[in-house]
Amino acid sequence: MKENSLLSTVYENICRDTGTQNESAKLIVVVRMLTLSMLIHSFVCCILVSLTAHVNALAFSLISPVLFLAIFVLSYRCSTFASYCILNVCILFWTIMNVYYFGWNIGIQHFLAVLLVFLFFSIYKHEKIKLFCAVLLFVLRLLLYHYCRSHEPVTVLDAGLNDALQTVNSFFIFLSLGLVAYLFGSTTQEMEGKLIEYNRKLMKQANTDTLTGLYNRRRTMEYLETLLGNASSQISICLCDIDHFKRVNDTYGHDIGDVVLTTISDTFRKALPPDTFLSRWGGEEFLLIFPDMNGDEARTALEILRQRIRELSFDGGIEHFTVSLTYGLVEYDFHSDITTLLKEADEKLYIGKESGRDRIIF
Ligand code: GH3
Ligand code: MG
Ligand code: MG
Repeated sequence: MKENSLLSTVYENICRDTGTQNESAKLIVVVRMLTLSMLIHSFVCCILVSLTAHVNALAFSLISPVLFLAIFVLSYRCSTFASYCILNVCILFWTIMNVYYFGWNIGIQHFLAVLLVFLFFSIYKHEKIKLFCAVLLFVLRLLLYHYCRSHEPVTVLDAGLNDALQTVNSFFIFLSLGLVAYLFGSTTQEMEGKLIEYNRKLMKQANTDTLTGLYNRRRTMEYLETLLGNASSQISICLCDIDHFKRVNDTYGHDIGDVVLTTISDTFRKALPPDTFLSRWGGEEFLLIFPDMNGDEARTALEILRQRIRELSFDGGIEHFTVSLTYGLVEYDFHSDITTLLKEADEKLYIGKESGRDRIIF
């Protein structure tokens, strides 16, 4: 329990914001994690070097923990950008100095690759500068290699210590690369996931009616255009309208009117075949599209719906009441355009209203 709270306190402190506005919260975490990793690496190297008789080498190695501790402390005082630059520059010079001091064989030069990854994963968009720095790192690595081939290091380490430092360096280089890639990669994946989800929500909002959750008119027109454009089987379309809905609103209130609209929409979902396209065409009018049914089949489905709606009982406060709809049904003849089809459905709906409502006209 105590361990957990200590770890979470450390983590909270690593994640603490710099206080500078409009800066990436993630980058400063990566800077601090990388600095901590370098700090631990420096301590391990100091211990290894102190086990041998290299006093000069130990004196040189002791600079590293002080340097990375200073960068870690600075990361709480400077802006993220400043901390990021300081860390990069320090790792760069620290690598050069270590190669100069201990030579090529301890593998410290691979920290240049950590810098390269850190450079390209960072949020800063200066592509040309990044490319320039990448070339610079490459040239620097080549120069260091050729320098080491023709010069002895300042301190010639014995084979055992060389191997030990090579192992420690390899471990910390892999750890640093992993840290940078993991921390930045997880953000990218998280952001992408959020973006996809946000887009899905936006698409849904753009296509649906907020009150009923049915498709809106815009989406319905899109669907009809695609459906009629690729029609290979029978298609039926029904325009239906709640009877005397104004009276419902006037008698029981607008909120009860809304309950009627949502309940009727739910009944469409429950009573009609699952592939029926359900849309709110306007106010209390709905357009139902049967993508794989001829007129007779659609009329049978609508008759079941009509009865289910007639069976609904609404609590109007003062009394319970029922509602009905009138339905204008047309079958697609494979050559009419959308406007003609809708006009025909509207005319049938009108005939239904004129002849007493609560009926299907086909
Ligand atoms: P008819 O049987 O001829 O269709 O008569 P009606 O009263 O249903 O038709 P009318 O066009 O006169 O009235 C439609 C009413 O629908 C008027 C309008 O206030 C109501 N309405 C439209 N949209 C909504 C809504 O979102 N919520 C509520 N509560 N009422 C709505
Ligand atoms: Mg109406
Ligand atoms: Mg109407």
